[in-house]
Amino acid sequence: MLSGGEAARRTWEDGHLMGTHDPATTTRTAELLARRRAVVPRGVGIFAGEIAMASARGATLVDVDGREWLDLAGGIGVMTAGHSEPTVVAAIQKQAAELQHTCIHVATYEPYVALCEKLTSLLPHGEATKAMLVNSGAEGIENAVKIARQATRRPAILCYEGAFHGRTLLGMTLTAKSSYKTNCGPFAPEVYRLPFPNSYRLARGLGLDDFAARMLDDVRRRFVTGPIPAGHVAAILIEAIQGEGGFVPAPPAYLRGLREICDEHGIKLICDEVQSGFCRTGRWASYDHAGIVPDLSVWAKAMGGGLPIGAVVGRADVMDAAEPGTLGGTYGGNPVACAGSLATIAAMEAGRLNARATDLGARMRARLERIAARCDAVGDVRGLGAMMAMELSEGRNPDRPAREVAAAAVARCREQGVLVLTAGPEGNVIRLLPPLVITDGDLDRGLDVIERAVVEAAGAHAGA
Ligand code: PLP
Repeated sequence: MLSGGEAARRTWEDGHLMGTHDPATTTRTAELLARRRAVVPRGVGIFAGEIAMASARGATLVDVDGREWLDLAGGIGVMTAGHSEPTVVAAIQKQAAELQHTCIHVATYEPYVALCEKLTSLLPHGEATKAMLVNSGAEGIENAVKIARQATRRPAILCYEGAFHGRTLLGMTLTAKSSYKTNCGPFAPEVYRLPFPNSYRLARGLGLDDFAARMLDDVRRRFVTGPIPAGHVAAILIEAIQGEGGFVPAPPAYLRGLREICDEHGIKLICDEVQSGFCRTGRWASYDHAGIVPDLSVWAKAMGGGLPIGAVVGRADVMDAAEPGTLGGTYGGNPVACAGSLATIAAMEAGRLNARATDLGARMRARLERIAARCDAVGDVRGLGAMMAMELSEGRNPDRPAREVAAAAVARCREQGVLVLTAGPEGNVIRLLPPLVITDGDLDRGLDVIERAVVEAAGAHAGA
């Protein structure tokens, strides 16, 4: 058996095939999962099956039993620049040896300032831009809401059906899916939900622009008929392409119209780029595809290359509306995390990962459309760049989500050593989030496995 590190350095291109992941050879996996169950509460859910990883490199993971996996999940969209990218590892090691922590509220250190300089130059929000650093996506959302409320002196936040914004109390309040929130309330006040412009579910034959216009009228109507007048709304919070909600892109015309509505009523537009940001869609920001600029944006996941770091970026005047002491925390923008993030962003630039995402996305889309042509359980193929997904519905009917088919298909993929995740409020979407350093050959092999798995799972379901 290869050691984890040796195996991780070999790719499928070397001719090292994964083979079937036989449960009889999962001794160490079973042992580690048993230890986990004894000490980790079940509320820390397991979403991708009984898997225990030891090491990784690029787009290849190696489990504790020495078996290779192709990673099409990327630690839920985090490992965009690849696992253990050597320049990122070196930067983390160097920073850890120099300065691990002082807290940004106690003393200023260069990596925090350098990362904010990098973020504000990559992600300009109007004439002058500022950034602050946090530990996670949810924490970024919390801070963006605090900033918008201080900037407007208004209480209400509008969010969306299908949204996911994290697991803090406010994050859960803003999140739609009830299974993430079971018995966790009471939730935060002054949060109101709008229907997300999901064209697959709601357009009912309307063209994309007409559909966007109808959904924008609906937002305006709600300011008049309830539940909340525009003058009470601090911010509208939207994912330009929903992540956990099933990789649903908002029509560009909708995002442009929302920007206008916000400008008309003095409402701050907050874009949550936690899952879609940093090259995933072929741009640094997914809102860029619609040609809009939000007042505030929230980032995490891929920007840290696996380290716990996130950011709120925004127009300087809006960011500076927050009073000293109301933002921050002990660890936000820790020097080691900043060094890892700066090296990750440098690796994204050196590897031209935005262009790579566009190419990989075209490759994924072509294959998913081929699967859809073969299999009438695939109701929709959609996404932006390398944030691609297919929604499984019985007979392609948007009102009949095929959750069991999606679950059976990803289980079949796991048996073949391909790690892939579901998404969507009904769990019937198969989403692809590979590291963007994946080779064409590895991606094709992963897509071969997915194609077989979906066709077989749909066939078994139809025959059941
Ligand atoms: N926002 C979006 C769009 C996300 O996808 C997530 C996590 O999946 C979050 C916020 C929360 O991020 P974190 O898990 O880092 O708190």
